[in-house]
Amino acid sequence: MAVVGNGPVGQTAALLLAKWGIRVVLLDGRPERDPIGSKAICQQRDVLDVWEAVGAGSRIAVEGVTWTTARTFYRDRELFAYSLADPGRSAFPPFVNISQARTEQILDELIADRPLIDVRWGHHVTGIDQDGDGVTLHCEGRPPVRADYAIACAGAKGDEVRRMLGVSFGGHSFDDRFLICDIRADLPGWAEERRFYFDPEWNPGRQVLIHPCPDSTFRIDWQVPGDYDLEAEERSGALDARIRAIVGERPYEIVWKSVDRFHSRVVDRMQ
Ligand SMILES: Cc1cc2nc3c(=O)[nH]c(=O)nc-3n(C[C@H](O)[C@H](O)[C@H](O)COP(=O)(O)OP(=O)(O)OC[C@H]3O[C@@H](n4cnc5c(N)ncnc54)[C@H](O)[C@@H]3O)c2cc1C
Repeated sequence: MAVVGNGPVGQTAALLLAKWGIRVVLLDGRPERDPIGSKAICQQRDVLDVWEAVGAGSRIAVEGVTWTTARTFYRDRELFAYSLADPGRSAFPPFVNISQARTEQILDELIADRPLIDVRWGHHVTGIDQDGDGVTLHCEGRPPVRADYAIACAGAKGDEVRRMLGVSFGGHSFDDRFLICDIRADLPGWAEERRFYFDPEWNPGRQVLIHPCPDSTFRIDWQVPGDYDLEAEERSGALDARIRAIVGERPYEIVWKSVDRFHSRVVDRMQ
């Protein structure tokens, strides 16, 4: 089997295939792993169950933060809070927070231990030909790769692969963007809570989401206007003021920051 895309979905697909004794070529156009940022932090129980099937679920659950309370605020008023239900039949809690960089690292370690998985970075797939016997993947500057089947795990930015397969990615992109910062700070009492603020006076008309992560790190997502300028905010000191509105006068460190747009899209077919 060939797997196109060595992100968390491609990594997981490769590990599951290897578990069934199937040889896998795992292709990715990037030169190597770039382990930065929390990105997909909140892993729910069914994902942990899948990862447990390949030997990663318990490790990720133990290293991650299990948060137990979800608080929702409107302006300065708490609307409601609920505690997450007992795990039930699964050994795992409903949600675990851990950075995507760390989950990718754990999955990479397992992949390195599976001789059936052949990892090939620097393999940018530019063409896909299917025939009655299998599929040929054409890679820029590399010999073609032949496989019985291929799985496309090219992620949200994988339009090129979707075009080759004639798959559409319909849906909606939002005008507003999100400023995302991983901040290390000591916030007593917040380590097991997810906080969702709507229209707080320190981000009027928009929302803010705060998730606890390992190592006293908090992932904060501020909804910001489409023309938001992070560099200008850093220069003017407004970013510090934005963070101080949440952490107060406590010391803090920015571990990672990014500005992203939210999309709600789905492919029209999976096969
Ligand atoms: C700033 C930011 C914040 C985010 N926050 C969240 C969040 O809070 N929650 C959440 O669930 N998700 C979040 N995400 C999204 C999250 O990172 C993705 O959901 C996740 O990476 C999806 O994994 P994937 O394996 O499907 O795709 P990806 O991680 O995108 O991996 C796809 C891989 O395919 C490779 N590829 C693409 N095209 C080709 C080609 N033609 N040839 C070869 N290789 C190719 C790419 O190089 C890439 O390595 C965030 C992302 C960003 C950038």
